[in-house]
Amino acid sequence: LSGMKKNALWTFQLRTFASTGSNIPTTKNFIDGRMVESKTNDWIELKDPATNEVITLVPKSTRQEMEDAVASAKRAFKDWSRTSVLTRQQVMFRYQHLIRQNMKELAQLVTKEQGKTLVDAEGDVLRGLQVVDHCCSITSLQLGETLPSVSKDMDTLTFRVPLGVCAGITPFNFPAMIPLWMFPLALVCGNTYVIKPSEKDPGACMRLVELGKEAGIPDGCVNVIHGAHDAVNFICDHPDIQAISFVGSDKVGRYIYERGSKNGKRVQANLGAKNHGVIMPDANKENTLTQLVGAAFGAAGQRCMALTTAVFVGEAKKWIPELAERAKKLKVNAGHVPDADLGPVISPEAKDRILQLIQSGVKEGATLVLDGRDVKVKGYEKGNFIGPTILSDVRPDMECYKEEIFGPVLCVLTAETLDEAIDLINKNPYGNGTAIFTTNGATARKFTHEIDVGQIGVNVPIPVPLPMFSFTGSRASFAGDSNFYGKSGLSFYTQTKTITQLWRESDTTDTRSATAMPI
Ligand code: NAD
Repeated sequence: LSGMKKNALWTFQLRTFASTGSNIPTTKNFIDGRMVESKTNDWIELKDPATNEVITLVPKSTRQEMEDAVASAKRAFKDWSRTSVLTRQQVMFRYQHLIRQNMKELAQLVTKEQGKTLVDAEGDVLRGLQVVDHCCSITSLQLGETLPSVSKDMDTLTFRVPLGVCAGITPFNFPAMIPLWMFPLALVCGNTYVIKPSEKDPGACMRLVELGKEAGIPDGCVNVIHGAHDAVNFICDHPDIQAISFVGSDKVGRYIYERGSKNGKRVQANLGAKNHGVIMPDANKENTLTQLVGAAFGAAGQRCMALTTAVFVGEAKKWIPELAERAKKLKVNAGHVPDADLGPVISPEAKDRILQLIQSGVKEGATLVLDGRDVKVKGYEKGNFIGPTILSDVRPDMECYKEEIFGPVLCVLTAETLDEAIDLINKNPYGNGTAIFTTNGATARKFTHEIDVGQIGVNVPIPVPLPMFSFTGSRASFAGDSNFYGKSGLSFYTQTKTITQLWRESDTTDTRSATAMPI
């Protein structure tokens, strides 16, 4: 914790040594505006991925604690949904400022629990902050529509009104950004919230809700509960929860989508990915290889928009050895070490799974152009490190191609033509992101029009839209009909109320009641 600011230490002191039978600090629930020690007997050990030392115990919140969180959000909704939009906007302005002020400390929390490098962790916070920036425009975003004189003396207008209590379930890979995709937008629309962060790294989310309180978010408007299956089932089934935002893996997301929908809730679920980069022979070679290496191995490949699959078209395949040379130069180290390019993966289990997928590729005939399996990191021998790894001659029927590896492994395929590359990508079930590298506008245009993927980069390896747009992963990478943030996000967290009103100065002289539809 050295180097952290005073208020960060306060957070940690709040995680006092609980009745866990150990002296390891605990992560609290956040209920009704207070950090609350869980009464559970069931704790999850959270280990620093660089050392595998236990740094906090995360509770599986009890049923009563989860009920308390929803009840608190339900109570708070009454007043919060009636506050003026300017009040909610002012809270967002203060929140925006506080997140920016505490960016370094938030990044340190991310690195400590998640493992990514500090600069990358700052990016994690920044991309979340940009959603808060966008929320500050709520006075324009939440405008309804009006049409005067739809009939004689009759006007129609619409309001975008909040839903009630909403809930979020987040993955481990962006512990700051993804909570910030969810509760700020829900809140600024007038909803209240219960969030269940990943049990693997809830620290940044805890600090973010503390900062929210400091910014003036009233008690009860945002609550945090912890756990995995039981907490998720609780959210899917609770009658007072109106909508669920989920980001995470396919299996869990589909389950939540089905269970939540069956219970009448709105659900938006961002799921897994397999993002392909197409490298045309006319591409700018330097730029393309630099971008590819960063996008494949940044965050140790644990990004849903990581460029994990490269398709070299025609003569471009001659660049593969150079790609490997560049990837080899990346420095693998603990995330807080200043010159680290990539940190560890989240857990020993994740590491084993990634190693197995590399091995399966080799067994099925892929060529290991760069092997990062035996990387040793001095001083962090127990960490979950894997160095950049490149498998070439990969075929679509191989396990390493079919599975989302979620580690620092780039699968390389080749195609003779652009059509062949497009066909390959469109046959893949996922539709999260893709990119083409070319200097030819017509090639880029053909690609953007014919590819069936929700987010496309042209000479941009990770085309994540800024929050004035929406995150539009498609096909197997998304379930629901309103995407995260942007206009879609606003639509997800509001419902439309349409008012048709008739104001007539003089009373009617017609005494016959109309029983037929007006024509
Ligand atoms: P995960 O699905 O394992 O976990 C996500 C959440 O679900 C966590 O809060 C976890 O506690 C909960 N959960 C896990 N297993 C559960 C179960 N069996 N029953 C009920 N709840 C369960 O995902 P992860 O490993 O934390 O994150 C990585 C995945 O998330 C990758 O597949 C990645 O592509 C995806 N992801 C997608 C996006 C996107 O925008 N498309 C963004 C980030 C991550």
